Amino acid sequence: MSLKLYNSLSSKKEIFKSISDKIVKTYGCGPTVYNDPHIGNFRTFVFYDLLNRVLQLNGYETETAVNITDIDDKIIDRVNQENSSLKEITSKYELSFMELSKSLKILPNNHNPRATEYVEEMIEFIQALIDQNLAYEMNGNIFFDIEAYPKYGKFINIKDDLEAEDNELLKRNRNDFTLWKAKKDSDGNIFWESEWGKGRPGWHTECAVMIKMLFDGRLDIHCGGVDLKFPHHENESAQIEALQKHNLSNYWLHAEHLNIDDEKMSKSSGNFIDVNNLIKENGSDVVRLFLLSAHYRTKVSFSQKKLDECKKMIEKINRFAKNFKFVNQSIELKFSYDHNLFIDALNDDLNTPEAIGVFFSFISEMNKKIAKNSINKLDEEKSLVFLKLFNSIFDILDSHNLQDHKIPKNIQNLLISRQKARENQDWKLSDSIRDKILSLGWHVEDTSSGQKPSKKN
Ligand code: AMP
Ligand code: ZN
Repeated sequence: MSLKLYNSLSSKKEIFKSISDKIVKTYGCGPTVYNDPHIGNFRTFVFYDLLNRVLQLNGYETETAVNITDIDDKIIDRVNQENSSLKEITSKYELSFMELSKSLKILPNNHNPRATEYVEEMIEFIQALIDQNLAYEMNGNIFFDIEAYPKYGKFINIKDDLEAEDNELLKRNRNDFTLWKAKKDSDGNIFWESEWGKGRPGWHTECAVMIKMLFDGRLDIHCGGVDLKFPHHENESAQIEALQKHNLSNYWLHAEHLNIDDEKMSKSSGNFIDVNNLIKENGSDVVRLFLLSAHYRTKVSFSQKKLDECKKMIEKINRFAKNFKFVNQSIELKFSYDHNLFIDALNDDLNTPEAIGVFFSFISEMNKKIAKNSINKLDEEKSLVFLKLFNSIFDILDSHNLQDHKIPKNIQNLLISRQKARENQDWKLSDSIRDKILSLGWHVEDTSSGQKPSKKN
C-alpha cells in the first residue's frame, strides 16, 4: 500500500506525493524554551519522529527541521523573574529538549533553527509584506492585514468568531495578527532594533521566516500539535503564501493532545508531567512506546496503568527476541504476509496501534510454535526480520537482544527500506538506497536469498 497521510487541508487521507523524487522536506514547530518540555510536548515530537521513520521506510530521504522558539513573551517573563539573560534561560532548556529527544530515540533533525539567529531576515520579510500592502504599522507594532489577503482562512471559517491575539494593541481588524511587537517597558533589555523602532518578531513570523530561509518557503509536510492549526499555522502560511504566491506546504499533519484529567497538558496551566522523572521512573523505552501506542490523531489521557502495560509489552518482545540469534545475521529474507500487514498499517496514516497489533499476533503465533517445539528455520528468519522491521520504527528493543553487532542501525534500517523497494519492484529506488548505503561505507550484494551487506575495506 502506498503511504497515505491525513491532510488537515482537505480533512482527508491522501496518497502522499513528494515535490521532488529525491528528498522530502518537513518542518515541525518545536519547543518554546522557557522551561522543561512536558510529556504532552513529547507526544508531538515523537510523532514527528514516527513520520520521519515511516517516510524513510518508504525509501524517501528526508530533510527535517524542528525549530527552537527562543523569542517569546513567556521567555521574556522568565528572564525578568529570574534576573537572568535570554541566552542563559533558552540554552538551558534547549539542551534539556535535545537530551530528552535523544533519550526518547528521536532521530536527529537536519536543522534545529533558533529564532534569534534569523531576526535580521525577519525584519526584511516584514518589510517585504509592508511593501506589498499586506502589512501596516501602528504605534511601532506591525500587523498583517487579513483583509489584504482574501485567501485567509485555510483552516477556519473566518466568518466564525475567531480567537484573536494581542487585543490590547490598536489594529485595524480584530483578527489582524502581529508580525513585529514594539518594545514594552517590561521587556527590559530584550529587544532588537528595526526601522519601526525597538521590538521583537512575533511567533508566527519566526516560523515562517525559518521555513523561508531553510526550505525556500516550500515544504512537503508541515506538522505540529492540533492547538497550532489556528492561529499559528493559519498565520504562518498566510504570510508566506501572500508573498510567494504558492503553497507553504502540500500536507499539514496535526497530532492530538495528551491530556491529563481530561484537560490538555500544558506548561502555562501548570498541569503537566515532567518527562525527566517519567523516564527515570519507567525507562525511556516504556515512555516512547506509550507515546506511540495510540494513533497520533486520537486524544490520549496520561495514565500510569498504560505505562505499566507498555512495560509488560516490551518485556514480552525482549523475551521473544531472546529465542533468536542475531549476531551476524543480515536481511536475507523477503517480507512475508505479516511484515506487509505491519507496513500497510503504518502506511495507513501512521496507524501505530494497528501495527503493534499485527506484531503481537505474530509473536503469539510464533510463541505457540516455540512451546510445541515446532518452529522451523523459515519461522526463525521471519521472526528475525520482523523484530528488525519493528525496531526500525519503534526503536524500543533491548539492544543486547537485537543488535546485529556488525551492522550499524542506520544501515539495517536502509536495508529494510531497500527490501521494501525491491518487493515493490521499484528498482530505481532500490538502486538509490544502495548508493546511499555505499556512501556510508557498506557494500550490498543481491543474492538469491536476499541482500548481503558487507563493510567496505
Ligand atoms: P510549545 O513548547 O508549547 O510551543 O509546544 C511545542 C509543541 O508541543 C507544539 O507542537 C504543541 O502543539 C505541542 N503540544 C503542546 N501541548 C501538548 C499536549 N498536551 N499534547 C500534545 N502536544 C502538545
Ligand atoms: Zn511554528
